[in-house]
Amino acid sequence: MASVYPRIDRHYRSTALNRLKSERFDLLVVGGGITGVGIALDAASRGFKVALVEKNDFASGTSSRSTKLIHGGLRYLKNYEFKLVREVGKEREVVFKNAPHLVKPMPILLPLTRHGQLGPKMTSLGLWIYDRLAGVKVSERRRMLSSQKVAEVEPLLNGAAVVGGGLYVEYRTDDARLTLEIAKKAINFGGVLVNHVEVSDFLYEDTSKRTGQVSGASCRDVLRGDQIEIKADMVVNACGPWVDMVRNLNEPIDGKRLVLTKGVHIVVPKDKLPVNQILYFDVADGRMIFAIPREGMTYIGTTDTHYESATQEPGVTWEDVDYLLNAANEMFPSIELKRQDVCSTWSGLRPLIFEPQKGPSELSRQDEIFVSKSGLISIAGGKLTGYRKMAERVMDVVYSKISNKQKRDCASQSVTSDIALGAQPFVNESEVIELIDRLGSEIQACGGPIEHADTLVRRYGREAIKIWESAREKMKVDFDEEKLFMEELSYCLNHEMVQTPADFLVRRTGMLYFHRNKITQERIDMVVEKMKKFLGEDYLDWQQEADEIRAVHAQNLPI
Ligand code: FAD
Repeated sequence: MASVYPRIDRHYRSTALNRLKSERFDLLVVGGGITGVGIALDAASRGFKVALVEKNDFASGTSSRSTKLIHGGLRYLKNYEFKLVREVGKEREVVFKNAPHLVKPMPILLPLTRHGQLGPKMTSLGLWIYDRLAGVKVSERRRMLSSQKVAEVEPLLNGAAVVGGGLYVEYRTDDARLTLEIAKKAINFGGVLVNHVEVSDFLYEDTSKRTGQVSGASCRDVLRGDQIEIKADMVVNACGPWVDMVRNLNEPIDGKRLVLTKGVHIVVPKDKLPVNQILYFDVADGRMIFAIPREGMTYIGTTDTHYESATQEPGVTWEDVDYLLNAANEMFPSIELKRQDVCSTWSGLRPLIFEPQKGPSELSRQDEIFVSKSGLISIAGGKLTGYRKMAERVMDVVYSKISNKQKRDCASQSVTSDIALGAQPFVNESEVIELIDRLGSEIQACGGPIEHADTLVRRYGREAIKIWESAREKMKVDFDEEKLFMEELSYCLNHEMVQTPADFLVRRTGMLYFHRNKITQERIDMVVEKMKKFLGEDYLDWQQEADEIRAVHAQNLPI
């Protein structure tokens, strides 16, 4: 299949916007979270002419606010969601195969406590079922541990309470970067995907809204204010927590609707909670939460509470923070985490399908597709991990509705299971490790910290070499972190559709969550200054952009 944009460059956005205005598409996808970009990739790789618009940045909704695990969802066994566990469990392997730099296998310990919900036998059985359902490879299957062994692998745990444990493997990812890499791949396959463009209404084949079929959308370029009409044979609404709002633009909702629950994570320095692996442990209220080490930090989450209606920043309260701190302090009594240890937080909304009489943690995570009378296809629910299968199901519905001529031109089945992500993708994890080692040696030889190699390769794959080499050229003699930081920004402006400081500091690099102390006033000014030069003095109100990123920085702590 011809690659239309083999490499995204600085002219991509204006070319793409012109195409959105002037061409007709087979399919328009609304929403650039993992669900939407997954659909765009499935469609483009089947041969559909596809467009996608995202009102904010790619992954700015729930897809940058998850627990960041590609996992089978062991806990869903408790709710008898065998189909879901089987599907997402198997998908773990596919996502890992296709993006080994973004998906890192990590041991996970499930400590069993005297007052925990399940004893050793039930846990062992649960993990055994999980291994089989999820098709876990033999080397990663569960091992049951004695209390002594648990104390050896995780000395921080409350020794008096722990009676044993289960050790298995889950995969950690960067949800926002995964979303972005899928978006970039969809563009490589000919899709026209643009961030910061919001759908405000739908277009119809005839002017009567209720009888005509949906044939596109009216949109607004949020950055420039321009109105755009995008014409398409079919439209998919993949707006996550906003799915019902967008369904309402089309037709009043009749039947199933969404319910939202809020999930909060807190980040503490690794030395305050120095866990050796991922921990997945019981909380007194019957829920389970994770403690996950990453980039010199440990993040803890998540909460699960009802939330009224979709909003960009659901916010974090001290009550949310205290819930997580208390849970961690109970499980690791020697650490005594306090509010002031919290370096950053994030909160996201789960778009779930409403079921009467069910509490937040009992609601199914299974996805569902709704088709309106005028043909708008909406998808809601689901997991980050299962994005590819969700996309496949949506595109099967789309395929069933296209003309015979289009059917001859497009593949009837999904081909994404073999599409590797990233430019010059890695064939396996060993290649990733090799590159991290090589880059690490170069950075060290220049006097820099070796950790930068891991960060760069896991963020940008093989593109890390280009970023490092350009930065190295600009460094006088010794390693200069500022130069590397600015080179990353330059790369993201040129090749990753960064339009605002938050696109870079939150979604492309995750710095706001994991390196909040490095986002100084001076750095914010440097970022804004560089963006102003790159995009143009008049492109945005740069003072407002600087104020906004400062506000996001401040919001990053509880209110
Ligand atoms: P979103 O990511 O929210 O994307 C929808 C997009 O639509 C948004 O970017 C929004 O800006 C855009 N949009 C809305 N309205 C418009 C409009 N009018 N025009 C244009 N664009 C619009 N899953 C896992 O597999 N593993 C995990 O570890 C995990 N942990 C989680 C933890 C938490 C706390 C939460 C909340 C969820 C977690 N999930 C996890 C689930 C997973 O994150 C979500 O299922 C997934 O991210 C949803 O993606 P989405 O694309 O459907 O929604």
